[in-house]
Amino acid sequence: MKDHDPRQTWKPVVGYLAIVALIMLLSNIFIFPTILKTDREISYSDLMEKLDNQGGEEKITAVSLNEDNRTLRMLAENVKTGEKQIYTANIWPGDDLLLEKLRAYEGAEISVEIPTQTSPLLAFLLSWFLPIIMFIVLGNILLPRIMKGAGGQNVLSLGKANAKIYIESETGKTFADVAGQDEAKEALTEIVSFLHDTGRYKDIGAKLPKGALLVGPPGTGKTLLAKAVAGEAKVPFFSISGSEFVEMFVGMGAAKVRDLFKQAAEKAPCIVFIDEIDTIGKKRDTAGLPGGNDEREQTLNQLLAEMDGFDGTKGVVILAATNRPEILDPALLRPGRFDRRIPVELPDLRGREAILRVHAKDVRMQGDIDLNAIARATSGASGAELANIINEAALRAVREGHDAVRQEDLMESVETVIAGYQRKGAVISEREKKVIAYHEIGHALVAARQKNAAPVTKITIIPRTSGALGYTMQVEEDEKVLLTREEAMIQLTTLTGGRSAEEIVFGSVTSGASNDIEKATRLARAMITRFGMSKHFDMVALETVNGQYLGGDTSLACSPETSALIDQEVNETIREAHEKALAILKDNREKLDELAQFLLERETITGEEFMAILNRPISLPKAEPIQLGEGQ
Ligand code: ADP
Ligand code: MG
Ligand code: ZN
Repeated sequence: MKDHDPRQTWKPVVGYLAIVALIMLLSNIFIFPTILKTDREISYSDLMEKLDNQGGEEKITAVSLNEDNRTLRMLAENVKTGEKQIYTANIWPGDDLLLEKLRAYEGAEISVEIPTQTSPLLAFLLSWFLPIIMFIVLGNILLPRIMKGAGGQNVLSLGKANAKIYIESETGKTFADVAGQDEAKEALTEIVSFLHDTGRYKDIGAKLPKGALLVGPPGTGKTLLAKAVAGEAKVPFFSISGSEFVEMFVGMGAAKVRDLFKQAAEKAPCIVFIDEIDTIGKKRDTAGLPGGNDEREQTLNQLLAEMDGFDGTKGVVILAATNRPEILDPALLRPGRFDRRIPVELPDLRGREAILRVHAKDVRMQGDIDLNAIARATSGASGAELANIINEAALRAVREGHDAVRQEDLMESVETVIAGYQRKGAVISEREKKVIAYHEIGHALVAARQKNAAPVTKITIIPRTSGALGYTMQVEEDEKVLLTREEAMIQLTTLTGGRSAEEIVFGSVTSGASNDIEKATRLARAMITRFGMSKHFDMVALETVNGQYLGGDTSLACSPETSALIDQEVNETIREAHEKALAILKDNREKLDELAQFLLERETITGEEFMAILNRPISLPKAEPIQLGEGQ
């Protein structure tokens, strides 16, 4: 988004106005007087003088009196230059002296109609319309060029474009296109039925909320839901995105909002959808930097005014979407405005499967596809990501020459979308590969040897472009909403398993565990500062989460002393996990070697293969006598 300083944007406009003013001034001095020769009023004495001065340079060729003999008009021609001029003068009706003079005046016809030199209409057009037309023409030719330098828009199209209002008379989407958002859909069905039958609500006198706010992380289907509401109710869908207001001149956003609501009122019943409302609906700061936020505030104020202004029974329903509800101005959320909040959360296991199914309908799939497995492997994925997984799988199927999408295509695209493309041909030394294999088996083994840990489904040492050198995929059997302290500790122990294996086998450590360290720290910190799983602190919120839908950066809410104590406990917690992981691996040293060897050979192994090796008796001779960390 470009950020214009309003003063900068107006500079060229001022320049443009100066040019136009100059042109008009010059034309008034040099052009118009010759085209538009108007009557010149002279005094009685001047009139007398001109009549007396017959032999002078002006020759009077015609004279006329108006009906009541009060005004005299006279056409004079300059003898030398041939220039013509009409003079008018006020006279008395019974001025015999003047009549005498006129009669005596040779060559002049009295009472001849002297035509106006320029028709009044033409004069009017020339003096009023020409400048305006010039103004516009010049504006359209010059301004875009001037403004281009300033990166602005065409001022003369002020009333027109800029923030586009998109109107769809048929969105073509229905609730069937939205999967896994049952609660949101239920909350929206009332709006649908209201739009469907406005009359019934009006009869009873029921007023529906004017606005509903769809709140949730990106890609969860908020826009899709809004469209589906319009589609279900078969009403027009007006949409505008908050971010489009940002680049406009002061006052334009407000004008656009007015425009939007006017159009919507004409088309009622209909849906007005304001996407990314947080960009205009941010809290207004009373301190107010001068100039900076004017535009946004004006737009927001206009929006509030329009929402208050329109008749709730007309059938205009305003939907808005945001992923940052906490930054919205409270005025937006007051009754009569967006007082209904509809959460649109990330899909759960069932939701994910349903979303996959919706999108799988559009591609040809093999009969034995297990979408449930895909759903289980994509915990935390949004609807948009799931749609992308299906598409990536279809692309892969084409690349691989399959005539329908296979399970392997889907599994592969899960990783493509979630972990980045496979980096084929990246060179890794044998020794590094061995370290990575032990590291990943370390994770997997620690997970498998703890009760209630999520089962391992896949281990690979094929690097990803995301930077991960290896990857151990664990999939929870069921969706979990609550995390117990034990489960958190299991996760921590599993996270430290990779590094622990490196320590045990190679006696040294590598940088390969940086991601694990980051994750472990975050989890341990959250346990202590937010989940109340600390040994030292009771149920005290030591950190608050900002932007809960955007990854959530946290801010500390405690004293420096407490903060030091937190750091200490985070360290202790991770150490506890680390030691447990080391103990598990030491107890399972033979299995660690055996599995690492197997992974080194295969590069990628499945959860079943992993479990099969893990569960077979140790006494079995090894497949290959390559010894790792043990004497020959
Ligand atoms: P948001 O507005 O919440 O960021 P969108 O509505 O733009 O998300 O979703 C982007 C795309 O992701 C949709 O067009 C659709 O293809 C897919 N999608 C997201 N959520 C769902 C869902 N619940 N069911 C089906 N498809 C979905
Ligand atoms: Mg959207
Ligand atoms: Zn790791």
